[in-house]
Amino acid sequence: MANFDRAFIDQVLSSTDIVDVIKEKVNLTKNGANFKGLCPFHNEKTPSFNVSSSKQFYHCFGCGAHGDAIKFLQEHDNLTFIEALTKLAQAAGLELPEKTKKNDAHYNLFISNKLAADFYSRALKNNPKAKTYLESRGIDQDMVDVFHLGLSNNKWDDLTNLFAKEKIMNNAVEAGLIIKSNNKTYDRFRNRIMFPIRNSTGNIIGFGARVYNSEDGAKYLNSPETKLFHKSFELYGLYECKKEISKDKSVIIVEGYTDVIGLYKSGLRNCVATLGTAFTKHHFNKIKRYTNKIIFCFDGDTAGKSAAWKAISNCLTELKDEIQLSLVFLPEGCDPDSYVKTDRENFDNLIDNSMPLSQYIIEYLKSNKDTNTVEGKTSFALEAKKVLDQMPDIMYTDILREEIQEITGNVIPKESQTSNNKEKKTSSNTNQEFDIKELTLLSLFIEYPRLVKEFDCKNIISETSLKNIYDIITEEINHNKNFTAAHLLKLFPNNETIKTIVSFESNEKSEDSARVTIKEIFHQLELSSKEKIYFDLLNRYTDGQKLSDDEREFIKTFKK
Ligand SMILES: [Zn+2]
Repeated sequence: MANFDRAFIDQVLSSTDIVDVIKEKVNLTKNGANFKGLCPFHNEKTPSFNVSSSKQFYHCFGCGAHGDAIKFLQEHDNLTFIEALTKLAQAAGLELPEKTKKNDAHYNLFISNKLAADFYSRALKNNPKAKTYLESRGIDQDMVDVFHLGLSNNKWDDLTNLFAKEKIMNNAVEAGLIIKSNNKTYDRFRNRIMFPIRNSTGNIIGFGARVYNSEDGAKYLNSPETKLFHKSFELYGLYECKKEISKDKSVIIVEGYTDVIGLYKSGLRNCVATLGTAFTKHHFNKIKRYTNKIIFCFDGDTAGKSAAWKAISNCLTELKDEIQLSLVFLPEGCDPDSYVKTDRENFDNLIDNSMPLSQYIIEYLKSNKDTNTVEGKTSFALEAKKVLDQMPDIMYTDILREEIQEITGNVIPKESQTSNNKEKKTSSNTNQEFDIKELTLLSLFIEYPRLVKEFDCKNIISETSLKNIYDIITEEINHNKNFTAAHLLKLFPNNETIKTIVSFESNEKSEDSARVTIKEIFHQLELSSKEKIYFDLLNRYTDGQKLSDDEREFIKTFKK
């Protein structure tokens, strides 16, 4: 194994969930934070084979077998190390490095980052002013040690000289530590407090950097995307906090690395932060390996609120019944770091009383809508459907749907089993009884498409799903001279309403007789839609509402 690329092995292991790997071969049941099953390596009747999801490790108390996912495949499937590694890499969608590259790429980037981090760390030690500055922000020597904080000097060539001396300039450029432009090289990070970012196995994959004693440049700067560092996958503090996250059985997700450090110092050692990006589903899948209880902590300002919705939207597809997601919004103007320092007790309180995801979704969707009106309910239902459609087919989704239906009065249909968006829009109300006149009208239009152009039925069809289909029919007929019922069925194979219309027997033998029938129905529908408008206006009038001139004119002429 000495000849294998340790960095790549780390990458494979951190992209693999040992529980998934072992579950394929051993029946596992959840046992607290771990999983338990009958040991595949010795005969036993009561399970003593344990798999730890957070440690990514298995151990048998009966025979002592233990190891990581690679070791498990080696032992269980009788594979060589490289075979097991290849198998896991393939499952994780990672390409095995070519034999020649094996020892190079990632490993050299790790080394470059480590070298830089140690350099930054020494620079901080030698700079009492910077240390005082950190202390004034509540970051003491303990925190500096735990998070391996450092300082990039206000120079353009500190690291450049270091890497030139080590003769590994290209690696440093590839690691994003040094910028090469027009044949000149210079340090990317200058005059900043440096926060090394570690992957879950502890190797440094990049840096976060915060301005220190100047107002120049962006407040925060990260390493660029490199072979090692992918912002939308990595979480700051995971390596430092993963033990506590498993032990505490929960994680608090914050927005900045100073928040992670501040909370850590106050004793909350189960926090991670995103790296200046939105929280992604990759983050979600990474963190749920350690705990099922995920608490988002956002600033209470507008930016925090929109970050929250973004984060939640990104996770919707990945939800699982056993995961408990909740949210905390701090008072406006507060960040977790400052808040926990001034009011620890209240912060704990907020975390303990975080808002469950379901409540958050409903409140978010309700905001700016009056769900006491039909209009408000409709727009709420439309947006709720979009959210529900993204969620997996789990109990949680069913229960949330029921909650939402309580508000809308039962009108959120379950997602139809099709991929056609146009169809989704029209496939509601499948089992309902339609008005026979409206149904006849549409079925005649499908049978005699040329007649569509002779009547404008837009405002006389009252049933929404039939109205939608009328729109589709007119659109299709305008674009396709040879429109037939078969054409429509092919476009919307699973639309029950269309099937109902097509299979409806109109009994008209010719276009001419169909025209007469349509005309008749048209007038009746027009009349009833006018009657409806008339009574609506009359009601409004007797309620004391003011009517427009047109509306009053309508009432007057309709009476005649
Ligand atoms: Zn065993």
